[in-house]
Amino acid sequence: MTTNDFSAARPTPRHDLESSSPATVSAGHGPGPAPADLLRRLRARGAGDPVTHVERVPARAGVPAPWPSWAPAELRAAFTRRGVVAPWQHQAQAATLAYEGDHVVVATGTASGKSLAYQLPALATLLADPRATVLYLAPTKALAADQLRAVAALELEGVRPACYDGDTPRAEREWIRRHSRFVLTNPDMLHHGILPGHAQWSGFLRRLAYVVIDECHTYRGVFGSHVAHVLRRLRRQCARFGATPVFVLASATSGDPATAAGRLTGLPVTAVTEDASPRGGVTFALWEPPLLPPDSGAAPPDSSSVPGQAAGDHDDLRQVRRSALRETADLLADTVAEGVRTLAFVRSRKGAEVVAANARRSLDDAVPGLGGRVAAYRGGYLREERRELERALLHGDLLGLASTNALELGVDLVGLDAVLICGYPGTRASLWQQAGRAGRSGQEALAVLVARDDPLDTYLVHHPEAIFGAPVEATVLDPANRYVLAPQLACAAVEAPLTPADLVLFGDGAKEAVDELVAAGALRQRPTGWYWRHRERPEVDLRGEGGAPIAVVESSTGRLLGTVDGGSSHFLLHPGAVYLHQGVSYVVDELDLADGCALVHVEEPDWSTHARDVTDLSVVSVRSYVDAGPVGMFLGEVDVTSQVVSYQRRRIATGEVIDTRPLDLPARELRTVAVWFTLSPQSLALAGVQSADVPGALHAAEHAAIGLLPLMATCDRWDIGGLSTAVHADTEAPTVFVYDGHPGGAGFAERAYGTASAWLRATRDAIAECGCETGCPSCVQSPKCGNGNNPLSKPDAIRVLDVVLANLPE
Ligand SMILES: [Zn+2]
Ligand SMILES: [Zn+2]
Repeated sequence: MTTNDFSAARPTPRHDLESSSPATVSAGHGPGPAPADLLRRLRARGAGDPVTHVERVPARAGVPAPWPSWAPAELRAAFTRRGVVAPWQHQAQAATLAYEGDHVVVATGTASGKSLAYQLPALATLLADPRATVLYLAPTKALAADQLRAVAALELEGVRPACYDGDTPRAEREWIRRHSRFVLTNPDMLHHGILPGHAQWSGFLRRLAYVVIDECHTYRGVFGSHVAHVLRRLRRQCARFGATPVFVLASATSGDPATAAGRLTGLPVTAVTEDASPRGGVTFALWEPPLLPPDSGAAPPDSSSVPGQAAGDHDDLRQVRRSALRETADLLADTVAEGVRTLAFVRSRKGAEVVAANARRSLDDAVPGLGGRVAAYRGGYLREERRELERALLHGDLLGLASTNALELGVDLVGLDAVLICGYPGTRASLWQQAGRAGRSGQEALAVLVARDDPLDTYLVHHPEAIFGAPVEATVLDPANRYVLAPQLACAAVEAPLTPADLVLFGDGAKEAVDELVAAGALRQRPTGWYWRHRERPEVDLRGEGGAPIAVVESSTGRLLGTVDGGSSHFLLHPGAVYLHQGVSYVVDELDLADGCALVHVEEPDWSTHARDVTDLSVVSVRSYVDAGPVGMFLGEVDVTSQVVSYQRRRIATGEVIDTRPLDLPARELRTVAVWFTLSPQSLALAGVQSADVPGALHAAEHAAIGLLPLMATCDRWDIGGLSTAVHADTEAPTVFVYDGHPGGAGFAERAYGTASAWLRATRDAIAECGCETGCPSCVQSPKCGNGNNPLSKPDAIRVLDVVLANLPE
């Protein structure tokens, strides 16, 4: 049987992460208090009740299905040897659809056994047809390596599974091309290696029966749009060799997976979403830390503020709530004191260590020595250190662990009594993944989401239906982005001349993109098609966004820490910027735009830095609009010019501005997609917005709208930008723009336009329900405002959104 994160109590082999999780750690001591009792004691600690909602997630019995009749006995026996007695119903259903030739996406919870859904039809076909081949794509090399171990462990005759990626030795590559029938790779290798070398791969591609796309929800935004075209190029090469493979996709639970998978592959895809694997019951509480008294001013020294980064924790402009980190540390200490095995998820490594240190201190104050039963766990630890922590938790020497989500990648810790989630992890899918660590077989567990001080967290703890009643987010990508389409068509033309039929394959905008490439001298039109004119292949990086990525290099060692996309580099890597990488703090010495690198050194100053930019926006064209009387809603192309001109240094503990320093960086142009709404000045006046307050009203509405967009699409607020103005030259009216921060757009603004009334309704409610007087980071203030959050008018923002919602059709 498969096991599930919610239910596993024994070290049982699992389909999904079998080989990556040698140490499935589970409860090794007696039962703790019932979750409802535990929660009652936790919430009775302080003055007010911080719990805004309690949801009972019922236990679910698994629904097994018989092995499909087409699955050969040899294959069933191989799975049985690996501990899979029978498939769950969703696995059998998806496998049969794929075996019968339907393109299928299986979108179910973590560890629900998605891999069996594609292994079964793919391997059955390989056993039945000794010539057939399978191509498996994972977003990371590590996942492909895990899957390789899982397939190899089945020990099936003649399958010869092999990874083919950048690490594969040259000497082995030819053998793999010739002999492997189950090749595991990633989209980058498909794009850079396999498709350009299609002649060498013709034998493999000619016999290709299945393409498996694992973790397909990770192909979102601009990267997802690139991958969509790489898959079209793959389909084109297969078709040239006479093969039409079946696509099987596996996704985390996501909204409308059939549509997203269809956009990704360009094919009609059937979705299987009914999760039939078993799970234990969970009591899930939403927890909002109390507001601090208004005169307390300073935040506690261990405030959740860490220098603002695209990666996560924002910098509080003025701490008005008790920090989520401190609250989580107290909860961790309390649950450990109760003997409850607890895992706390914290977004940054520094945060995880702060939580562990504070919990240890409180426990030692209560009972000297008890603090030793709490530890921090992070990605930077060596494998042995991590295994040691797992062992300690297994034996009960350790009761509390504070972790970044590195845990999701490295180990398999299940069967905990309680999970604390410090700050909304960005998507409902991640939230469920983290909460899923709680629960032992036949026993209830507790999960607590502790809200951070930002609009989305605040909204969610007051709108439990947005967590428990809503489908998880749709994966958003836009294959029609011409900044993706044109380079991808160029790659395709190198592989084989483009034909009119290919233009259909590559979809909307392909003809225009080809015309542009012809005009630019890159393609030549001949009677037989469009030909690539140059000797060299075009250089196209699937993951590069917004210009060439900037390498972040530690000056003293020359070590490459990572890269930042060009679009964000001016904000995150300007000279003097405090830059966080995997929880470690660095300060930027120099940003060399010509060489594409930033030199940094390790330093943890007690201030954070905030770049400020000036932005100008002009409308290029309108794709679609809704005329709603005094209100207009638009989707279209815009040109955004922005220049980072200065940065502020702010004290981490208090948010106090130390100084503002000028910067000398060039202005940048961005042609992208925006959604915008306009209101007539009369309608604003009628709603009681004084004309002097219009700029602050629109600005506040813009900030909150950007903060809430991640509720609708798989983006975060750093993927999008905004601009508001009391009168815009192109619209001649009060206007709020929200645009994709990636050249050509990434699909986020389009998604916002498509769900405009739901999006702006949530925005309006988030502002109205925030307990602050004049606006705070939980509602209308933005950690990335170019204007220092000035002007902002919270009450007038609500009036603005009321006017829009009253006029806009649902
Ligand atoms: Zn507020
Ligand atoms: Zn702003």
